[in-house]
Amino acid sequence: ERGDVVATLAGVSKEYGGVHAVEGVDLQLHSGDVLGLIGPNGAGKTTLINLITGLVPPSSGTITVLGVDVGRTPVHRVAAAGVSRTFQHSKLFGRMTALENVLVGAHQVTRPTFLRRLFWLPSARRDERRALQHAASCLARVGLAERGSARASALSYGDQRRLEIARALASDPTLLILDEPAAGMNHVEADALSELITSLAADGLTILLIEHNVGMVLRTCDRIVVLNFGEVLATGTPAEVSGNAAVVEAYLGRR
Ligand code: ATP
Repeated sequence: ERGDVVATLAGVSKEYGGVHAVEGVDLQLHSGDVLGLIGPNGAGKTTLINLITGLVPPSSGTITVLGVDVGRTPVHRVAAAGVSRTFQHSKLFGRMTALENVLVGAHQVTRPTFLRRLFWLPSARRDERRALQHAASCLARVGLAERGSARASALSYGDQRRLEIARALASDPTLLILDEPAAGMNHVEADALSELITSLAADGLTILLIEHNVGMVLRTCDRIVVLNFGEVLATGTPAEVSGNAAVVEAYLGRR
């Protein structure tokens, strides 16, 4: 039995001057899913999550995420509806502490707090304390409880990638999108990340995982979508997808 629908893509296409980055994608994401998105370089994975988060508008088709018509909604309002993501290339502030990086993530969607801070100090102080506690709990959630006061640039590579997840968690998302979180990780780090993703899903988060580490995707996800030349080549359980001849031909067999 599957949970409520979190996201629906219907006939979604994105064209860049004649290049069909994403073409005719139909997709549904249900509450509690850990959905993997795989495919060769240039298959359209990043474009697809840019579409889901409202960063780029679709050329055609409709995208509904958490009740929001994404193509017609400003990106910050899509985020406020409960969508959070990490990026393929790190966007941490290296000279800020780990805790400060997480606070930045929270403030992206709680701008009114700043106003209250200006006009009503006692409540602002309370808010600030709460924000710090919340940021610390996000750090703890990814296993970085002891590293809050370390500069982000001083963390190990694997810890930096986890910090990015902590920052994405700071806005209390319903849907968490991870763009190649295991890139550059060693086996031990990738296994730990896989466990973290599974435990976040157990807490009720819906997760969309874009990854080139196919072994990790197969181990972590309930369902997998394979993109190829912007189109959905296959959708299914890890066993179905890894046994699919077209997927092996287009992607798995070439690795
Ligand atoms: P990778 O695994 O390498 O990150 P990907 O599956 O995420 O690749 P995309 O980055 O979504 O693929 O790119 C899909 C196609 O769209 C590619 O052919 C790419 O060159 C093209 N594309 C993506 N963004 C743009 C853009 N802003 N302008 C022009 N073409 C683009």
